[in-house]
Amino acid sequence: MKREVTLKVKGKFVNKYKNGYPLIMKEAIININDASEEGNIVRLVDEMNHFIAKGYYGKQNKGYGWVLSRKEKEQIDQSFFTNKIKDAIKIREPFFQSEDTNAFRIVNGEGDGLGGLTIEYFDGYYLINWYSKGIYEFRDYIVNALKELTEFKAIYQKKRFDVSGKYIEDDDFVTGERGAFPIIVKENGVNFAVYLNESAMVGVFLDQRDVRKRIRDAYANGKNVLNTFSYTGAFSVFAALGGAAKTTSVDLANRSLSKTIEQFSLNGIDYESQDIKVQDVFHYFKYAVKHQLKFDMVILDPPSFARSKKMVFSAEKDYKNLLMEAIAITEDQGIIVASTNSSAFNMSKFKSFIDQAFKETNKSYKIIEEFSLPKDFKTIKEFPEGSYLKVVFIKKMQ
Ligand code: SAH
Repeated sequence: MKREVTLKVKGKFVNKYKNGYPLIMKEAIININDASEEGNIVRLVDEMNHFIAKGYYGKQNKGYGWVLSRKEKEQIDQSFFTNKIKDAIKIREPFFQSEDTNAFRIVNGEGDGLGGLTIEYFDGYYLINWYSKGIYEFRDYIVNALKELTEFKAIYQKKRFDVSGKYIEDDDFVTGERGAFPIIVKENGVNFAVYLNESAMVGVFLDQRDVRKRIRDAYANGKNVLNTFSYTGAFSVFAALGGAAKTTSVDLANRSLSKTIEQFSLNGIDYESQDIKVQDVFHYFKYAVKHQLKFDMVILDPPSFARSKKMVFSAEKDYKNLLMEAIAITEDQGIIVASTNSSAFNMSKFKSFIDQAFKETNKSYKIIEEFSLPKDFKTIKEFPEGSYLKVVFIKKMQ
């Protein structure tokens, strides 16, 4: 049994938690230091000691733990986790039935009532991401639930809370039959090489599935496409399959070259007919301007925060400038796909960056369409920050 600690919610936050807010925040709790051990069960009460909710203590970049239940008598035990995961899997039934997609998320943290935890499915392999030591304390329940509810080839894990940077332990393998990596998964009929045993980034970010499909099906044909912060080139592969005249992928990580070649090759695309540059995106913009290169479509999908040799990029501070660089090398009537996974700002702030960038370059624009997280990344209205993905297709006008 885990130790249970009672945490008193400050008056002005009581309604927030009563209304379903799931994240335990330091500033909302009078006696946060009473929860001293990761994995402590916490009871949130108001100043009159009336029960509000229960959850667990687990320090994460975002907060100090998550609400798990609003029923005072509910035990946080094996059947609690099994039921939550069962419900989560049920909602994803259409994904399990899909013939052309076998990589998707089955548990999306607080969206499925289990903050601090995500589980993804990759063609019979399950990948658990633990975002705090606190949730990791419940690992046996969660792994047992998967054993009971699913037929898996193997389960792998990422201890995202381990800041040593060396969180690969025993190849991240948990149980089952070890995979031979890469495994090849399918997304809307396209192949991806996935490595569950290498690092936190396994080869593909599943949250962009709908955006990739849209680019392939409705935008890419005949277009000259620039994909910046391209990682394994997932957007480039979809653009090429959608008939792009050419794709150029730019990422400063050395691994991106071989990984992008691998993705093109897995899909029958001659990578030599595409451009793959291992380069700082900001250098590439200067190079493109100098050589008067212009693109019909420019994809911007930077990390929220990145440090390179010369500079620090923060989406919140620098997205406007990134857009201005992109505008300069986009053809008139061309499309900029502006994407961000930063939870530091919402869609309306993101649109204000877009507006400022066009104003400062004296160009006009039209927003053509918008995307947020796909269905398998379930979110709840009580926690809008959880809906972090914002993607805007922008047409550059004269
Ligand atoms: N757009 C990708 C995911 C991007 S992940 C996809 O759809 O799969 C972020 C990537 O940005 C990483 O691969 C990282 O190497 C790269 N990166 C970070 N800073 C960069 C910079 N200044 N120039 C180029 N690439 C950068």
